[in-house]
Amino acid sequence: MPPTGETARCSQRTHPATLGRPGPASTLPAPAIRPRGHTIRRVRPTTILALVIALAAPAAAQAALPYIAVDPGHGGGDTGATGILPPGTQTGLTPRTDAQGRTLLLEKDINLDIAIRLDGWLRGQGARTLMTRTQDLAGGDRPYTTEGADLRARTDIANEAKVDLFVSVHNNALGTTTSGTETFHYYYSSAASRLLAQDVQTQMVAALGLPDRGVKTAGFYVLRNTRMPAILVEGGFLTNPTEALLLADPNVRQRIAEAIGRGIATFSARSVTAPPRLPPTIGPWRTRPASVPAGYRLVRTGVGNPVGKGGWLAVVAGFSNPDGGRTLPATIGPWRTRPSSVPTGYRLVKTGRGNAVGKGGWLAVLSGAQVPAARR
Ligand SMILES: [Zn+2]
Repeated sequence: MPPTGETARCSQRTHPATLGRPGPASTLPAPAIRPRGHTIRRVRPTTILALVIALAAPAAAQAALPYIAVDPGHGGGDTGATGILPPGTQTGLTPRTDAQGRTLLLEKDINLDIAIRLDGWLRGQGARTLMTRTQDLAGGDRPYTTEGADLRARTDIANEAKVDLFVSVHNNALGTTTSGTETFHYYYSSAASRLLAQDVQTQMVAALGLPDRGVKTAGFYVLRNTRMPAILVEGGFLTNPTEALLLADPNVRQRIAEAIGRGIATFSARSVTAPPRLPPTIGPWRTRPASVPAGYRLVRTGVGNPVGKGGWLAVVAGFSNPDGGRTLPATIGPWRTRPSSVPTGYRLVKTGRGNAVGKGGWLAVLSGAQVPAARR
């Protein structure tokens, strides 16, 4: 549901649903993944065998860590949010000034710096990672053209590489006094995404000490179009001078990176089984499509429905329950008042006036993952 009251927005994640079918499979090359700097050249077979054994041991001990896409928000022609710093503030980043000579802090620069630090931290823990960009460019390290192409490149890279998790790094923009940290997952996401968001949010709040704005749901492109548990983290507000100054400090950015990393590690230790790799939504279409692929159900989108403005959307209809092989209905309800209990496998969502899946009251939607009971 869209949060009531003020909604913080950095520009990229407000990107409206792009009408039409998803584009063809991308031919974007994924950033090179190096096997952590080991080069084998001109060595005897016995040496190779010893090396294989030596490398296999730590890998096995760290097998719990998933394959993670790290997505630094914005880049190139899309700067994201802008903060204004006291003149001459050192940031450890590319110096930025505006026409009036003011010292600026750009969200795209901070996001990339945090993402590179996060990538390093994760690799240090033995995780396999994939950066959706590594320079001041659009997704796939391509020149920035349009927001749609940029965002699609990011999700294509992650989907094609079949990463286990997708973590988008952003910082926020609203008022000069708005403050705090928040983490998003998709409206119709699985319980896995929600848990990942909670674990990362907890670590971020503990590490930064900023107000806890909580875990929220949204329909942002990168959350809607990724086929694995996905979250979008908003560290602090660039529009708040105090938080901009905080984010200008490389030590703080390192703390943020490590907090996200610890959140991912906490989530990984839960051993949550992610749902099948269907994209959560297909569409939207302007007119009702003649057919909907198996596994999806069609919903009418509305003015207030953040997953698409007008037209139709196909959302994942359910999934084969790993233990029973059953297919559950995607939603139960709606109820006018909050039900006292929700069946296993579902999570409760508040419905809204413009939400096509229910007009007012409550709805139970499929949580989409088997969560150990003790950790629910
Ligand atoms: Zn952003």
